[in-house]
Amino acid sequence: MIRVAILGSTGSIGRSTLEVIERHPDRFEVVALAANQALEPLALQVQRHRPRVAVLSKEKGLRGRNDLPQARWMEGREALLEITESPDVDVVVNALVGSVGLEPTLQTLLAGKRLALANKESLVAGGKLVVAAAKRGGGELIPVDSEHSAILQCLEGYERESVKRLVLTASGGPFRGWSAEQLRDAHPSQALNHPTWSMGDKITVDSATLANKALEVIEAHFLYGIDYDSLGVVVHPQSIVHSFVEFVDGSVLAQLGFPTMELPILYAMSYPERVEDRSLQTFDPVKASPLVFEEVDRDAFSLFSLGERAGRAGGTSPAVFNAANESAVEAFLQESIGFPQMTEVVSEAMDRLGRHPVESLEQVLDVDREARAISCELISILKGKESKRKS
Ligand code: MG
Repeated sequence: MIRVAILGSTGSIGRSTLEVIERHPDRFEVVALAANQALEPLALQVQRHRPRVAVLSKEKGLRGRNDLPQARWMEGREALLEITESPDVDVVVNALVGSVGLEPTLQTLLAGKRLALANKESLVAGGKLVVAAAKRGGGELIPVDSEHSAILQCLEGYERESVKRLVLTASGGPFRGWSAEQLRDAHPSQALNHPTWSMGDKITVDSATLANKALEVIEAHFLYGIDYDSLGVVVHPQSIVHSFVEFVDGSVLAQLGFPTMELPILYAMSYPERVEDRSLQTFDPVKASPLVFEEVDRDAFSLFSLGERAGRAGGTSPAVFNAANESAVEAFLQESIGFPQMTEVVSEAMDRLGRHPVESLEQVLDVDREARAISCELISILKGKESKRKS
């Protein structure tokens, strides 16, 4: 029996993980659930899945509550870390959103456990620290993202020296084929209308700007120790091919499948074993035909280019890119700024904060906070300009 803890259980990946586990009660057991601040949904999950431990990572979030379903309830950051260190946990699924996910990632790897990683910030902002923690603690880092899971599956059994290039696929999102000109008036409701994947709002907008793909390139760099010159991206609107690995002999392997996060989630928990799951839809090559592949339009999707640049610059640049992007997406969703202004905010924040070598968790978290503060400032300036223009 594999004992699983889910950090971020009330989010989209967390809920899918619970669904997968529920279908395999002979294999997986939920021992701990943690949410950031969604107490009511967490309480419902605890009632249904009966973990031993339930954590609300928000400090003092449980105050005055004595009506919660039975479990050992804890709160705060320390409680999250207690889960990652517990001898009763085999796999930690880290589906937390934001930089709050970095510390549990490091602790899980230092504790020598398997980490099924869905938290982007861990590798994007703290990649160097994460790689070092895995080495030191002996923890096993298995990605939950469909692209990185595809690469992991294609790499199985091969030496690193035989790999020439990794190519990540991108659906292209709802604005595939749009010009920079057309994107100027893109509305949040259009950005949220993703053609192939069903995900949370933030990541759906990131798929529409392709910022998500830049973040995945940075993650792949750290996950597989591949330099940026050997990392490519290709647009593939059907989302059937989840990524490619090109080998030194010219052969290319790809992993294909119906677009669902449940497959990479199941694989991350059962790896390297494959588990039969009849609920998972497979893809029919005839029905899926023709599969299309296109170049990324780096001029129109400027956040993608900016993210790639942040990755190559290295150091704290990806942390700044990620935090500024998150603030910009939030402002775009609230209609405070327009689509192209997201790039303006992120670019300006990156210029102002510069690049420094990554040294510690505290430093990365500081950079994250600073980037958000500067972005907020920039957003309110842009917002002021926008309302003047409208009036
Ligand atoms: Mg992905």
